[in-house]
Amino acid sequence: MIPLLDLKAQYASIKGEVDAAALRVLASGHYVLGEEVARLEEEFAAYCNARHAIAVNTGTSALHLSLLAAGVGPGDEVITVSFTFVATASAICYTGARPVFVDVEPVTLTMDPTKLEAAITPRTKAIVPVHLYGQMADMDAIRAIADKHGLPVIEDACQAHGAEYKGRRAGSIGVSGCFSFYPGKNLGACGEGGIVVTSNDEHAKTIRMLRDWGQEQRYHHLLKGFNYRMDEIQGAILRVKLRYLEDWTEARRARADRYSALLAGSRVVRAPVAVADRRHVYHVYAVRSHDREHLQHALRADGIHTGLHYPIPVHLQKAHADLGYRTGDLPVSEAAAREVLSLPIYPELTLRQVEQVVAAVEQEAYVS
Ligand SMILES: *Cc1c(COP(=O)(O)O)cnc(C)c1O
Repeated sequence: MIPLLDLKAQYASIKGEVDAAALRVLASGHYVLGEEVARLEEEFAAYCNARHAIAVNTGTSALHLSLLAAGVGPGDEVITVSFTFVATASAICYTGARPVFVDVEPVTLTMDPTKLEAAITPRTKAIVPVHLYGQMADMDAIRAIADKHGLPVIEDACQAHGAEYKGRRAGSIGVSGCFSFYPGKNLGACGEGGIVVTSNDEHAKTIRMLRDWGQEQRYHHLLKGFNYRMDEIQGAILRVKLRYLEDWTEARRARADRYSALLAGSRVVRAPVAVADRRHVYHVYAVRSHDREHLQHALRADGIHTGLHYPIPVHLQKAHADLGYRTGDLPVSEAAAREVLSLPIYPELTLRQVEQVVAAVEQEAYVS
């Protein structure tokens, strides 16, 4: 059996250090926003080449607070993509603003900058590109349009820890970048976690207050805030794991390269395209197939687990029907949602297993 991801294998590889970090926190008696979280913030900001990092409880909270710090509120519009995890749009809704969806580029499945300008209205307050699967959106083109209209760009980098665009790290190009430490992400906590990175001092100060009840000092509430604090035990564990992130990322990239080499010219699937000037960190390795359901079932019968990221674009989700979108509004996103299939990828996956997966995929050429 080959799972889609294997969190137990990662834990086993660093068990001693993770256990020690967790036990250190248990013995300390300090369980929320302590020294470990503060150090994680310094280390993660440095990792992203940003001035500040503010740790929170989820990636969704990171997005919510970044939007609030950018002044987004009721009656505003925020431009984003529909081909993403639902949290991107939900965080916009939390502020009272309305998500406005633009289509994605067919090759990278990230925000199509050529669709951006037509979506800007006098109500537009921010733009939220998503670095889907671990590859950054076309940030120069997006920033050029955003700058022309004086709009802040907030990066949804929840799948893109360590990804780069022309040598610049994810999270360092927009006014802020939002990361998730959900266990299955490239850098995952043993529970929930998230972080905002920014080089804007004002945004950092606001977000730092908002995550802890809007306090400037204890019981002095300047803003209507939230309880979005990070647990100290997660901070300690994430600090251990951050030291391995570059090695894990290179392992992901090597597995992806092997997949892509073996799948080049495949009649069954189309391998994803990695753009030359971007460092793809392969949170997801998604192929495309015109008979995705059949392929997924056939692989499952061979003991190979796959995933769908994502089968329904946000604009067609029942929960967001009030936005008034219809099938056909975003054709590239809708086609991607029908065709993508995520193959197993994680640092501990062996190259032999990659070959097994590809052999199983190619076998389907004769059946479908
Ligand atoms: C995981 C994810 C989120 C939300 O992160 P949580 O930590 O689960 O709240 C937001 N956007 C994208 C693109 C994600 O993949």
